Amino acid sequence: MGPIDSPASQIGVQLTDSAYVVVSMRIMTRIGLPVFREIDKDVMRVVPCMHSVGVPLAPGQKDVPWPCNKEKYIVHLPESREIWSFGSGYGGNALLGKKCFALRIASTMARDEGWMAEHMLILGVESPQGEKTYVAAAFPSACGKTNFAMLVPPKGFEGWKVWTVGDDIAWIRPDENGQLRAINPEAGFFGVAPGTSWETNPNAMATLSRNSIFTNVALTPDGGVWWEGMTKEPPAECLDWQGNRWTPEIGKQTGAKAAHPNARFTAPASQCPTIDPAWEDPNGVPISAFIFGGRRAAVMPLIYQAFNWSAGVYVGATMGSEMTAAAAGTIGKVRRDPMAMLPFCGYHMGDYFRHWLKMQRLLNVTPRIFHVNWFRKDQNGNFLWPGYRENMRVLKWIVDRVHGRALGKESPIGWLPKYEDIEWKALDFSKERFEELQAVDRNAWKQEVIGHEELFIKLHDHLPPEMVYERELLICRL
Ligand code: GDP
Ligand code: MN
Repeated sequence: MGPIDSPASQIGVQLTDSAYVVVSMRIMTRIGLPVFREIDKDVMRVVPCMHSVGVPLAPGQKDVPWPCNKEKYIVHLPESREIWSFGSGYGGNALLGKKCFALRIASTMARDEGWMAEHMLILGVESPQGEKTYVAAAFPSACGKTNFAMLVPPKGFEGWKVWTVGDDIAWIRPDENGQLRAINPEAGFFGVAPGTSWETNPNAMATLSRNSIFTNVALTPDGGVWWEGMTKEPPAECLDWQGNRWTPEIGKQTGAKAAHPNARFTAPASQCPTIDPAWEDPNGVPISAFIFGGRRAAVMPLIYQAFNWSAGVYVGATMGSEMTAAAAGTIGKVRRDPMAMLPFCGYHMGDYFRHWLKMQRLLNVTPRIFHVNWFRKDQNGNFLWPGYRENMRVLKWIVDRVHGRALGKESPIGWLPKYEDIEWKALDFSKERFEELQAVDRNAWKQEVIGHEELFIKLHDHLPPEMVYERELLICRL
């Protein structure tokens, strides 16, 4: 996991009875002789990863295309640093380098050793003048990490480039100068296929155009693959993800999707047209900002900046996504997902917040912390913000703030951009609409803080006092 020659990398050995896992891991990680050479140096502890789909074949028994067991156990032993996975052949349950090792086991290693294993994409922004700024962003699953990591700057941003380092996981540690540097422990992208098209994410489409594996997609008669949203016109006929004949007509009548909504592509990161030249730098890339974000129909502005590190840790700790749609003016049920790590942290979340707070003491340069929300809606339930490549405008403000070029406007929750400080070239977005998108409603925020409290009560016995102080300060400002 990570570039072979990087001191920040780790090694796992996975034993599996699934051929699908073997060929997928060949894309998602570095494997083979160079890794064996590292193991033979005998300086590094190896994480044993045991995997079985849990369907042993009796002599003569015919195999099935997708074996799995009704019972599933995905077990992590952080003290002995090992992983045992039984019964499932899919994704994070089976490609054990990903969530199991690179997040759950690695987060406990990171706590013990003074680094961070985070559910974050890493990207680099290059200005027309050649200034390069790297940021890492934590959004929960299905909240736009892969899209943001491969962002194509919109019209009006000629000369700007966004470079991809990783789209899902970041391992981050301070260097000898007290600057945080990040590596991507993975070598491939395991991305959601439906909705991915040449229009929405051309970089992903180029990446998966060869040497890739597709899971639960539809098969076209000419030997290709298809999923909802890949093209405007669906194929006249195909085999759906379960192998049944599918036509647009059948889809209309039965509601059956050609591809499973969670169909995936597994593609080599090296094939991404925007892969950063430094993506395999053993020293990692310097991180200037952390960005947290979720899906919030109300309350959360498009962008704000936390006042400082501990306020930023509070922002990450209390982030979440709406589970139910919010009616105009009300807050939907928010599922808190601190730093997008709730399903992936290998130890108590309260101690995890403490680890975040402590990390700052190891730093000479403290990354700025921001919160974004691409998903705020208007009274009619429409997205207020066009999103996708237009997110570049938000990213530029973040970069400007990091370099001390934009003043910002103080609010109870943090620093907000002024309308004039966002680059609006080639986008028609009125000041009124921007004010609606950025509105900080004090009453709604008081409700929001009560939601924070519900999370804190669950974590109470390990919650660092700083989180309580930050909440009190927020209440005072509101
Ligand atoms: P990941 O699971 O965090 O990597 O998320 P993806 O990048 O795969 O995106 C998840 C879903 O969010 C997809 O349906 C995207 O089309 C959608 N999405 C991504 N970015 C944006 C955005 O800026 N605005 C809106 N409205 N949707 C987005
Ligand atoms: Mn993704």
